[in-house]
Amino acid sequence: KVPVLTIDGPGGAGKGTISSLVAERLGWHLLDSGALYRLTARAAVKHHVALDDEAALAAIATKLDVAFPVVDGQPCTLLEGEDVGQVIRTEQAGELASQVAALPSVRAALLQRQRDFCQLPGLVADGRDMGTVVFPEAPLKVFLTASAEERARRRHLQLQEAGVDASLSSLLKEIQARDARDTQRSVAPLKPADDAITLDTTRLSIPEVVDRLTELLAQ
Ligand code: C5P
Repeated sequence: KVPVLTIDGPGGAGKGTISSLVAERLGWHLLDSGALYRLTARAAVKHHVALDDEAALAAIATKLDVAFPVVDGQPCTLLEGEDVGQVIRTEQAGELASQVAALPSVRAALLQRQRDFCQLPGLVADGRDMGTVVFPEAPLKVFLTASAEERARRRHLQLQEAGVDASLSSLLKEIQARDARDTQRSVAPLKPADDAITLDTTRLSIPEVVDRLTELLAQ
């Protein structure tokens, strides 16, 4: 049986960074499920599909032509052969992703694709519904949170480092809007699985969280 660690939580809680560090430390595969929703939205825009046309979006999600090769030691994200690693990371791409992610047939279309990542020696699955829907049998489920203010502060810092000017208050508003959409949608709303361990990272550094997860896995 393939061991799976699910890491769910709201945007900006550090899931992406933490998941890739834990996967690297363990030598396990990594599923960045948010990227699949971001890529679906991106493909829809590219093919002029309206973001409320559920049937057409589900078809886009089913046929999604993506690859995650490592080129010169750098992980790449290819959509129909085009490197979209940067463009799918913007706040706007996240907002569009959260719109398509609210549609049940899009989620259903991406389900098997996500499960296909479950391969030996193990999988770290990062998302919103990894523990509740995609890998309900996972032996270790973690729900990573941090206050909205702290998540906005981290995002602000990240953008500053990338040379992008953004206001802290508008970032906080965007984070709160996305939280609201993700927790209130009718299908796979963001919430901890019943058997998940919740870890509040507001006052924890990245290495502290990685160590804590490694400890939990060893138990
Ligand atoms: O994690 P990330 O910010 O890349 O996710 C983008 C959006 O995709 C989220 O706001 C959420 O609406 C959606 N998503 C989801 N289920 C997942 C992962 C992401 O609904 N498992």
